[in-house]
Amino acid sequence: MKDSFGREIKYLRLSITELCNLRCRYCMPEDGVCKKNHADMLTAEEMIMAVKAAASLGITKIRITGGEPLVKRDVISLCRSIANVDGIEEVCITTNATLLKDMAIPLREAGVSHVNLSMDTLDEEKYRYITRRGELKDALEGMEAALSAGFDKVKLNAVLIGGFNDDEIPAMAELSRKYPMDVRFIELMPMHDGGEFGQAAYLPCSKVLEYLPEAQKLQQEGVAAMYRLPGALGRIGLISPVSAHFCGTCDRLRLTADGKLKPCLHSPVEYPIKGMTQKQMAEEMKRAILSKPACHDELSATQRSNAGRSMNRIGG
Ligand code: SAM
Ligand code: SF4
Repeated sequence: MKDSFGREIKYLRLSITELCNLRCRYCMPEDGVCKKNHADMLTAEEMIMAVKAAASLGITKIRITGGEPLVKRDVISLCRSIANVDGIEEVCITTNATLLKDMAIPLREAGVSHVNLSMDTLDEEKYRYITRRGELKDALEGMEAALSAGFDKVKLNAVLIGGFNDDEIPAMAELSRKYPMDVRFIELMPMHDGGEFGQAAYLPCSKVLEYLPEAQKLQQEGVAAMYRLPGALGRIGLISPVSAHFCGTCDRLRLTADGKLKPCLHSPVEYPIKGMTQKQMAEEMKRAILSKPACHDELSATQRSNAGRSMNRIGG
């Protein structure tokens, strides 16, 4: 269905857990999240009902996210059930890839067609630092497994952090030359206290192009400005939620693991659907879609998001 500004809403980002095996410094506090009462979280059945409700309103694409979706015990059966919902054409997953090595093929067989991997550095020490606990080797093995599993598309997403990984832009971009994989650089969003990162960490995507003068411009694809390095199998994507927000073409709705519909990532407005019937969920989704704001407030290092939650609790 269309929102009140004529944007066709076709895409639901479904967070299936707030929990994660990593603690990325820009996303999550060091001590993790306070584990919620099980009864306050959506059950798998409720998530499937919500997807059916969304499909009844014309949503065709679901992205499974979190927290880390692969830490959820029933993730494979959940993906299978979601992929089987009438009207759902595309099931995508966003993962840190550290658990993907053994799960790539089961996910593909369950009907997941697109995988986005998050990896902000190719340096082992820096990976341990930014994730506060992860091993780069696990993520790289997950990436290789994803590339061999036959997904329609595999993308690697790296958050640009000035002073941390800007010097790795050429090396990360090179992955798109070697693998049939898009490498996308995403501007760091000032989500909550962001205490770890000062002004210098917030780099605009235009910085990437300074490092890649040979990149050839391609047609824009969704929220990403696309480029290709000469002879590369994959492409480079630049996603600029801060320097050039894409509210005008925003086609998404979010559902958090604790059952709150979020019409806008950067707004605290939420619509609870936990405990509702599928019909009631569809009614709330309509309300949420019709309440989508035209645009969120400006974001900057000093003007932080009004989301009211950290990314792992929203579903980035
Ligand atoms: N755990 C999974 C992962 O890391 O891919 C899925 C959830 S994570 C919240 C989804 C994406 O949000 C990741 O690519 C992560 O880098 C990104 N993210 C988290 N906090 C962010 C921030 N403040 N600015 C930009 N991207 C952010
Ligand atoms: Fe976990 Fe993903 Fe957040 Fe990193 S970005 S802490 S992997 S949810």
